[in-house]
Amino acid sequence: MLSYQHAFHAGNHADILKHLTLFFVLSSLNKKDKPYTYFDTHSGSGLYDLLDNRSQKTGEAEKGISRLISSKMEISGSHSLLSDYISLIDRYYFKNFYPGSPEIARVISRQQDFIVLSELHPQEVENLKKNMLHPEFEAPCKNVQVHNRNGFEMLKALTPPKTKRGAVLIDPSYEEVSDYTDCAKTITAVNKKWTNGIIMLWYPLLSHREQEINQMLNDIQSSARSVNPNTEICDLRLEVAAKDSHQEMSLKEYQQSEKNPPRLYGSGMLVLNAPWHLKEDMEKIISVIENLLK
Ligand code: SAM
Repeated sequence: MLSYQHAFHAGNHADILKHLTLFFVLSSLNKKDKPYTYFDTHSGSGLYDLLDNRSQKTGEAEKGISRLISSKMEISGSHSLLSDYISLIDRYYFKNFYPGSPEIARVISRQQDFIVLSELHPQEVENLKKNMLHPEFEAPCKNVQVHNRNGFEMLKALTPPKTKRGAVLIDPSYEEVSDYTDCAKTITAVNKKWTNGIIMLWYPLLSHREQEINQMLNDIQSSARSVNPNTEICDLRLEVAAKDSHQEMSLKEYQQSEKNPPRLYGSGMLVLNAPWHLKEDMEKIISVIENLLK
């Protein structure tokens, strides 16, 4: 269907949780010189203009990243990862942009690393190709591949990578209810053949989808434990509204709504083969930022 456009949501609370986790994971891979491969199955356009009408209409960045940037003096001291993330975002924010996951990966990765991106929407993939060459934000990693292809299929076809070390971000829009089962099936298949790959899955917190979400998380975790009972699994959540006190609506209703009440009550990141200390550090950061984003 592909009616989802990330420009409505870039820089919101969900992006903050997702991109802080991505930042942590890639920074931990950077601790060794050996190259790694980063796969982004649902890439979006990579760079978002916060003055775009879609961003202005929902005000999600205003309630998200703008609040972190305006409180940076008070919160940056609480954790070095948080201050490093805010400094990175600030380089874009002061030009009224927000970087998406492909851009964040491009900036953090090194010359020796590989980035493999997939985006199905024809216009978004053109924007992504252009943004990955953006002269204003020239970044170190030159090994970037962009595929106009189904991200689930791309990941199953291209893993395990030659580098052996690496990470995946799976960030669907969950427009289709089949996304929940596609995520579980894809992660199960990839984890079986690439047992040390770090797999990050973003998921929405929606009361009316609780059953699908729990089923997906349980299926992934039990399959990973059956491959290796000692797999490090980390489930992080950032909640910005009380579960039953907000109005849930379809994406279409939301994009047409005049008031734009919160659509999700928060979101989560499930990480397989989580790097050392991810849980402790991210939980500390979430406790600092959660109240700011409510
Ligand atoms: N990961 C991006 C970020 O953090 O900046 C945001 C991605 S956005 C939530 C989801 C994107 O997935 C949309 O641009 C949509 O067009 C794309 N998409 C939807 N289904 C897809 C599929 N099966 N394969 C690849 N891309 C898909």
